[in-house]
Amino acid sequence: MAERLIISISGVRGIVGENLTPSVASDYARGFGTFLKDSSGGKEKVSVCVGRDSRPSGEMLKEAVVEGLCSVGVDVIDLGLVTTPSVGIMLRDLRCDGGVVITASHNPVQYNGIKLLLGNGIAPSSEAAAQIKQYFGNKQFSDVDSAGLGEVTSNSQSDAIHIDKVLAIVDKDLIGAKNFRVVLDSVNGAGGPITKKLLAEVNCKVTAINDEPTGLFAHTPEPIAENLTGLCEAVKAEHADIGFAQDPDADRLAIVDGKGNYIGEEYTLALAAEYIFSKKSGSAATNLSTSRMIDDIAVKAGGKVYRTAVGEANVAGAMVEHNCVIGGEGNGGVIDLRVGPIRDSLVSIVLVLQLMAETGKTVEELARQIGGYYMSKEKFAADESEAAQILNAAKKLFAGAKLDATDGYRFDFDDGWVHLRTSNTEPVMRLIVEAKDKVAAQKYIDAVSDIRKEIVG
Ligand code: MG
Repeated sequence: MAERLIISISGVRGIVGENLTPSVASDYARGFGTFLKDSSGGKEKVSVCVGRDSRPSGEMLKEAVVEGLCSVGVDVIDLGLVTTPSVGIMLRDLRCDGGVVITASHNPVQYNGIKLLLGNGIAPSSEAAAQIKQYFGNKQFSDVDSAGLGEVTSNSQSDAIHIDKVLAIVDKDLIGAKNFRVVLDSVNGAGGPITKKLLAEVNCKVTAINDEPTGLFAHTPEPIAENLTGLCEAVKAEHADIGFAQDPDADRLAIVDGKGNYIGEEYTLALAAEYIFSKKSGSAATNLSTSRMIDDIAVKAGGKVYRTAVGEANVAGAMVEHNCVIGGEGNGGVIDLRVGPIRDSLVSIVLVLQLMAETGKTVEELARQIGGYYMSKEKFAADESEAAQILNAAKKLFAGAKLDATDGYRFDFDDGWVHLRTSNTEPVMRLIVEAKDKVAAQKYIDAVSDIRKEIVG
């Protein structure tokens, strides 16, 4: 049976040729364009930047989106094949009212999606996302006559502008003097060309694998340990200082150390924060499912961490509200507001290289210095009523813990924490547990497992 089209806070995602067709893409763009016009306060002309990742279906869906936007009178600036953060940066640079990225992020090639950004460069809030969904669902489109159609222009400056903004937050010459040997795995996504240019700017000796943006992913694209064995081997073979793995739209980054070991996606944000907090005080923001490492780093520097519901828009929104110096998500997505309120693997790369250059330490040493925890992430099937019962039972069981009920329940203990939440996109619950060691974590995992067995069976 075909999966249903998923319409969530960040846009739509589906399988090309099954539920994600050009007509769906065009209608979704018509709904988004109409929403932007209605919320623009009567602005004469509304404009949107459109980019796509490297998937073979990207060009077709982009054309459909452009057509939909023009039909409701929205001007389009076509950025071509670019990373997701490039779209976020360009829409602000060009003062557009919104952005659209044709990408299904880390999902396999048969998927594609349409990710939306508002004029501030951030994905819509849940309220705005619900409104856009209504425009689309109700086919509430303000079509225009031929005189009012949107116009399409192209812009090929994304790489140059994006790279300039990223280099402005580090000392290019200091990194350049180190001649780091880097292996880059862009999984044939959008990241290869721009990231090679960035690394050349900081004088790295780069071995790029899977760098052609064909969309024919050389391995399963999510940048997690099991998919990065090729990168680990290449780092060893090249005697590289570090290996970087991007997801197909290049907002997430995972790191392999100089010994060829995958250090875990949670360390990307931790290392970036380690650098930022070595330079300034201030606060950070991250979601409730992200490791405590960032709290340790921030507290050491006299700062604090704001925790939000899971979702890039929530983290970016909190960062803007509290003027955070760093933020992001534990899945390898780092946000630095000086570049833009969007997860950006290029930002992560330069911050980590800068940290290595300044300290003279290897990735292994830096990760060891930060320390670490044992973390477990799992999901299990639970419908709405079961999920509510599980949350209630957990609240009773963990009555002694500090409770945060922003997004499901997060229970904080002295030696660890438990985050139980329902997924936004599937009928499952996610359980994330982090503790000082495996034994301590297992105690919490087992406790939730007992509750789950009693309620779900
Ligand atoms: Mg992504």
